[in-house]
Amino acid sequence: MAHPRIDLHTHSTASDGTDPPAGLVRTAAAAGVDVLAITDHDTTGGWDEAVAALPAGMRLVRGAEFSCVSPTGRDDAEVSVHLLGYLFDPTHEAIVAEQARLREERHHRLVGMIDKMAGAGYPVDVETVFAHLPDGAAAGRPHLARALVAAGVVGSVDEAFATLLYTGSPFYVAKTDTPVRVAVEMVRAAGGVAVFAHPLARKRGRVVEPSVIAELAAAGLGGVEVDHPDHAPEDRELLRALAADTGLVATGSSDYHGTNKTTPIAAETTSPDALDALVARAADGIEVLVG
Ligand code: AMP
Ligand code: FE
Ligand code: FE
Ligand code: ZN
Repeated sequence: MAHPRIDLHTHSTASDGTDPPAGLVRTAAAAGVDVLAITDHDTTGGWDEAVAALPAGMRLVRGAEFSCVSPTGRDDAEVSVHLLGYLFDPTHEAIVAEQARLREERHHRLVGMIDKMAGAGYPVDVETVFAHLPDGAAAGRPHLARALVAAGVVGSVDEAFATLLYTGSPFYVAKTDTPVRVAVEMVRAAGGVAVFAHPLARKRGRVVEPSVIAELAAAGLGGVEVDHPDHAPEDRELLRALAADTGLVATGSSDYHGTNKTTPIAAETTSPDALDALVARAADGIEVLVG
């Protein structure tokens, strides 16, 4: 395999993607992906179905994206950030408990957003929004966005975010996320490796200063997502240099969400050396699975 295609950040219907885990694996295979990570928000619930669907020769990195909060590194405010955890023990008590808490948080906060919108006269209700969520799935704003599209309120998921669901909108309800340092420690304690997801995705809101990433590198962070659809070219260069300076592994990924986003799977990829470096940082015992 001369140039394996490696996509280390994708979502299934276990969170806010639109492909069921088995479909996600098939989509990846059809796109020529050799190594796929499944990284649903705050759940490992899609792992088993993905494993069962793995075609011969394809490799699966089991992961999750943790909803976190971080200091900005410039003022007293905090910002919501995402942390990718790979190759951790999914039965680790702290992770099981924190992911369950976050899924509850997600459910209640989305109900809060739906109530606000319904109260303002929008044709949305809790039953409709949750109707398509598999049991135990992590609810998110994209589920509400789809209901708004289906009701004809907006033309697309993107438009729903831009006009109604953006962070800070009158209908926005915050959730209580995990301090990012705690999440890094949790992933490591469970034998995994932690990668800061899309740290400079500025279109989503305020982002952290690079100093925050450097401090996390000293506190056990293993890598940083450099090539991501929401990163501008100059921010990628900044992050690549930061990774080189701090010893972080630089990754690239599509953050594929099926039809909830326009980015195709493997639109951005990780180098084989970077994958090897990540795997080397994880504890022995949880392997990259081979189909
Ligand atoms: P939540 O996790 O409920 O706070 O919602 C955030 C999720 O919404 C992210 O994980 C993305 O998948 C998705 N998202 C954020 N911004 C957009 C956008 N402009 N268009 C489509 N999806 C978005
Ligand atoms: Fe998402
Ligand atoms: Fe994310
Ligand atoms: Zn993601």
